Amino acid sequence: MEQFLLLSEGELTLKGHNRRFFENVLIDNITECLSKHNLSIKREKRGRLYIKLDNSINVNVLIDSLSKIPGLKVIYQGYKIKRDFDIALNVIVNLLKNAKSFKIQASRVDKNFEPNSLEINKLLGQKVLDNMNSIKVDIKNPEIIVFVEVFSDHFKVYSRIKNALGGLPYGSSGKAICLLSTGIDSPVAAFLMLKRGVEIIPLYFHTPPYTGNNALEKVKNLVRNLLKFTVQRIKLYIVNYTEIQLSIKKNIPEKYWTIVSRRFMGRIAEDIATIEKARAIVTGESLGQVASQTISNLAAIDKVFNIPVFRPLIGMDKEEIVKIAQHIDTYDISIRPGIDCCTLFSPKHPETKAKYYEFIDSEKEILKYLRNNYSFVTEVIK
Ligand code: ATP
Ligand code: MG
Repeated sequence: MEQFLLLSEGELTLKGHNRRFFENVLIDNITECLSKHNLSIKREKRGRLYIKLDNSINVNVLIDSLSKIPGLKVIYQGYKIKRDFDIALNVIVNLLKNAKSFKIQASRVDKNFEPNSLEINKLLGQKVLDNMNSIKVDIKNPEIIVFVEVFSDHFKVYSRIKNALGGLPYGSSGKAICLLSTGIDSPVAAFLMLKRGVEIIPLYFHTPPYTGNNALEKVKNLVRNLLKFTVQRIKLYIVNYTEIQLSIKKNIPEKYWTIVSRRFMGRIAEDIATIEKARAIVTGESLGQVASQTISNLAAIDKVFNIPVFRPLIGMDKEEIVKIAQHIDTYDISIRPGIDCCTLFSPKHPETKAKYYEFIDSEKEILKYLRNNYSFVTEVIK
């Protein structure tokens, strides 16, 4: 008897001619995850991936890490066994532990095998009922479906053990620079893009000594947390933003501090996109959440960009965002002390309808002196 996991690909089945490309990226990512466990993966027909397990493995830990790999839809667990209905029954009873209802769904790859699929359903279904108390067959809405597949020299018997993340394989949609602060929103934005297959390069604007080391540590922790979805390492950019921030405070009307600051962040993000050959920018902005996130203000911020800006949270309520943050375990890190923008740089009465002419000339002055005058470091988080 051989224990296995079977993985089904999510949307990849919709990819037509490009499917092979997406599948290869997915297999690379899974292989990296499996290498920690000394296991390997085999491509099967119908977009399924097969992992042979051995007894030394902690299956639950493995299932948990696989369930966080973007591009996978469902994880099944089961056994490859001899073509023997009594052995099949033992395995099925094990898979149905604690279940209230079930159905057997047999299929034959070996069409010469007797009995046929419908008869196998009935035969094994009856055996289960004879052997397990308080379980019933439910054809329409079973709690567990047990799949029995008949091959020329073995049966595969398995059932769904966990839904995986869905989405697209990490890295299959290209790269984006993600403006990551210490708040609740931007890590969620990064996660949502990462789930759509985007390789994330986080960028944090640090303003020492006004923002301290605890803010920087928070950002690193947030990035570390995103690692579990990507398998690979993540390169974090940290820009020293103090001089620009001080210059904005000195030269720009107070109500425009945040907008002009976001415009500088945008320009620098695009510089880094060029270095990294990234094709888009991601932010955690959500319409109307704070004064800088009105349509007029976002429009004023957008003027500095030459590449697309993705704002995956734009239509979400704070509650919805918090729910995702809790689900991906970034919420508890985000609410720790350590702010990313000190009140010193936040206007008391921010403008909600940005008017260019009121800041554009003074902004040009800062641009002249500081456009290319910032420094950054990178750190690879593993
Ligand atoms: P968050 O919870 O992500 O901090 P927020 O609701 O606090 O978002 P703002 O502070 O207005 O909103 O920031 C809007 C977006 O600008 C953030 O989601 C993030 O993408 C980007 N941003 C803000 N501050 C920084 C920073 N210090 N470094 C990098 N990006 C930042
Ligand atoms: Mg913030």
